[in-house]
Amino acid sequence: MALPHLLPSRHRLLRHHAPAILLALRLLAAAGSMNQAEPLLAAALADDLANNRSNQGERPTADHTLLRGSDAYRCARQIAFGAMKVPRVVPYTTDGLMAFDAGQHHHTRLQGLLASKFGAELEVPVSYKEQGIDVSGHADAVYRWSGKQRVVEIKSMKAFPFLKSAGGTDNFGREVKPEGPKIEHMLQCGIYGYSPQIQADELYLVYLNKEDGRLAEWIIPMQGEPVGPDGEDVITLVKAELDRLSAIAADIGNGLIPWRNIPGYGVVKDPPPAGVKGGQPWNCVYCAWQPLCANLPASKVPVAQINQPVTAGAPADEEPF
Ligand code: SF4
Repeated sequence: MALPHLLPSRHRLLRHHAPAILLALRLLAAAGSMNQAEPLLAAALADDLANNRSNQGERPTADHTLLRGSDAYRCARQIAFGAMKVPRVVPYTTDGLMAFDAGQHHHTRLQGLLASKFGAELEVPVSYKEQGIDVSGHADAVYRWSGKQRVVEIKSMKAFPFLKSAGGTDNFGREVKPEGPKIEHMLQCGIYGYSPQIQADELYLVYLNKEDGRLAEWIIPMQGEPVGPDGEDVITLVKAELDRLSAIAADIGNGLIPWRNIPGYGVVKDPPPAGVKGGQPWNCVYCAWQPLCANLPASKVPVAQINQPVTAGAPADEEPF
């Protein structure tokens, strides 16, 4: 049964809450009078992020070589599209670009700490040109520690790939076993470390979870520790990768686009469409040239064959790490 004498009357309620109600009404009126449809900065931000990303990709290689150390373990054909400066077909997405931008910021911060804490030299140029290998690049940092030459590679990534590598508890409370650093990152760092300019004794891989600031760190000797799929150490993996990159550079020099061939996966019969969740191999889902590649045969093709109009696929996000 209602007890009217114990409940505040409508009158009393209004009187008590009048200032708050008036403020809310004023805010609503103000919001209604704003022109929310006018995107003053949105397009400028999208352009700025896209230009920044493109400039990064088009930065000349350290020693003006055809290929970069960061091409390690990437799809042979994808490397060739990049090296030949074939314009990307799949557009960037603003959220992917924002993630890249944030990653760069964190990267610079960690490099600054390496310099101030350990006296590390940053952005150290390396080149294999004198060895007849068309690969160069910049190591994130190099320093000596306990008499050993250490080369550093920093990678910032989203929470899921970080968890896969570093291990921990997922959002559902399940334990995830650590898989360790990715082979492509060990190879990139190993290529810098094996170069005549650095001659590292060990790699120092640093993963940053962009979403919560956690770090995972690994020190890996260049020699003697099995890290590859068949128990290879870093140097063995690096030598094999340099051979593969040389073969890709030779194809490009001969006017050929290499096979659709992804290390650890093999030849790709049907590249899954760009942007499709769960597509395998994932490399194609995040590939800037997927629609162009899917129009070509899987085997080597003459460069002239890529001058065909292709329809852009769905926008692909940044790679998942
Ligand atoms: S779509 Fe796949 S196979 Fe083709 S270039 Fe890109 S990553 Fe390589």
